[in-house]
Amino acid sequence: MQVLKDRILTEGVVKGGNVLKVDSFLNHQMDITLFDAMGEELKRRFKDEKITKILTIEASGIGIACIVARHFGVPVVFAKKSESKNLDGDLYTSPVYSFTHQKEYMIRVSKKFITEEDRVLVIDDFLANGKALIGLFDILGQSGATVVGAGIAIEKGFQGGGDALREQGLRIESLAIVEEMGEGFIKFRD
Ligand code: 5GP
Repeated sequence: MQVLKDRILTEGVVKGGNVLKVDSFLNHQMDITLFDAMGEELKRRFKDEKITKILTIEASGIGIACIVARHFGVPVVFAKKSESKNLDGDLYTSPVYSFTHQKEYMIRVSKKFITEEDRVLVIDDFLANGKALIGLFDILGQSGATVVGAGIAIEKGFQGGGDALREQGLRIESLAIVEEMGEGFIKFRD
């Protein structure tokens, strides 16, 4: 998606440890006009899939997921990373190693919000090694819901998580795939 690639090129900062910082439009300040265009594009790609629910993971997936969900007219469920008094009843859980925080979280989704009748699209801001998606797909597997696939804003293709999931037959649609990056340069997959 060219408009997203242009923003990455003009505002993205490549940090050490394979981190791409895009906090002026995606991870801290959020450009809702851009999010809306991303939602429109994902709706175009998944329009025939009869999606009933969007699933994401807190925190930075939530903003994008909400705007995407407006285009599909369905609710968003976000997996929580910590225990909470507000989270009661039966839960699906899965361990996820966080790329940015470098620690393992147990993610949790209440069983009442995803059932086997659902057809679910997973949304996240970044795809790197694929751990967040694997955890979310694991939760969907537990629920018996149909996994439609995942819509991602930025995939770092060189970390391999997306291609490994595609090889398993999962549909992963990323709006920008960074093939290579380093100090002062970012190169996209065609
Ligand atoms: P994965 O689980 O695929 O290794 O990493 C995906 C998760 O880590 C995303 O939910 C995202 O929040 C975070 N993440 C991974 N790489 C980056 C990055 O380069 N920049 C930012 N801002 N977040 C990232």
